[in-house]
Amino acid sequence: MSEWTDAQEQRLRALIDGAQEDCAGRFAQLERIESENFERVLAAMQAQRVGVQHFQATTGYGYDDIGRDALERVFAQAFGAQDALVRPQFVSGTHALAVCLFGLLRPGDQLLSAVGMPYDTMDEVIGISRASDGSLAEMGVGYAQVELTGAGEIDLPAVCDAITDRTRVVMIQRSRGYAWRPALTVGQIGEAARAIHARKPDAIVMVDNCYGEFVDVQEPTHVGADVMVGSLIKNAGGGLAPTGGYIAGRHDLIERIACRLTSPGIGREVGSYAYGYQPFYQGFFFAPHVVCQAVKTAVLAAAVFSRLGFTVHPGVDDARSDIIQALRLETPERLIAFCEGIQMASPVDSFALPEPWAMPGYQDQVIMAAGTFVSGASIELSADAPMREPFAVYMQGGLTLSHGRAGIASAVRRMADKGLLTI
Ligand SMILES: *Cc1c(COP(=O)(O)O)cnc(C)c1O
Repeated sequence: MSEWTDAQEQRLRALIDGAQEDCAGRFAQLERIESENFERVLAAMQAQRVGVQHFQATTGYGYDDIGRDALERVFAQAFGAQDALVRPQFVSGTHALAVCLFGLLRPGDQLLSAVGMPYDTMDEVIGISRASDGSLAEMGVGYAQVELTGAGEIDLPAVCDAITDRTRVVMIQRSRGYAWRPALTVGQIGEAARAIHARKPDAIVMVDNCYGEFVDVQEPTHVGADVMVGSLIKNAGGGLAPTGGYIAGRHDLIERIACRLTSPGIGREVGSYAYGYQPFYQGFFFAPHVVCQAVKTAVLAAAVFSRLGFTVHPGVDDARSDIIQALRLETPERLIAFCEGIQMASPVDSFALPEPWAMPGYQDQVIMAAGTFVSGASIELSADAPMREPFAVYMQGGLTLSHGRAGIASAVRRMADKGLLTI
């Protein structure tokens, strides 16, 4: 490794300052989105009369847990949904998605993905590659998928053609996941929901909203999705929720799903939390701001890496519908160095170096950089990637733009240090 010189450090700072100037117009737009979302969250907390009594902890069964119940009403209102489940008992986004699917689908039904192959971890939940233990396939639920168009949009005529009498749930993933495609906008999701309902009124439009909350001024449930699902260690937790997930949507569907979350006959009436729900409320209060900081970090990374000559997705001025920034680094060495740089800039575990590993639920080896306060929280500055062509890194999060800047600088420094780019 070469010696990092003062001259290089100065050029790096000039690069990032210049890139940030390119982003000024975008940043102003993002701040307007933040304000609109924040006002909706604040109004929901006021309308649901959130008080200190809702921060009391509960134990045991958790009957009549007013903190849990009011939190669910706050989420439902802010998301324009009739109802919601917001629970620390959802261990991850994948778990919330699985509970939603198992709550809605019955043997003989068909699940249709309108976005081609869904997020990697859904493969074993659905049983796409094989009828894995406990999968929907093993329960006799059929599956089909319709590929996105070349432009990365939902192929609506093909989706409508693929709907059969057996199709009960049509699943739409808003975020790009680990795919080199644009995130679907809320407008596109609304258009798809209208077309799907016109073709089959009782089809349930379910949206995987992970990474999407508060990036735009509306959510899928505002525009016709029947149910949507997300993780609380991503956007909607605002960096403060310690764990959990949510499912928001039509009241009758939420009741069905609650019977899978706990038990038939018991449903949503139980579930305690010994630490109380205060961080979930406060996290939701912060979420529009934190998401704005994360999106600004993503835009800044796009600007810096464009200036360095890399292909980035989305570009600085492109519309955004999730917090992910993809950067095509072209070689495994650069991909690893980038993730090392992000890790080195973390407040926690900055001394650790990430390595590719065979993570459960993923097909290729995956490398993940995340030095986070909430373990594995990807609303905090993080970067991850499957070790496969075109060696694109997917970075996301950043509780503050200052940290985002520091992380981007560290990633560039690490790559330059290893002789993988010149600055
Ligand atoms: C993160 C994510 C998931 C899965 O969430 P986990 O909490 O990692 O299990 C599912 N879908 C999308 C689009 C995601 O971004």
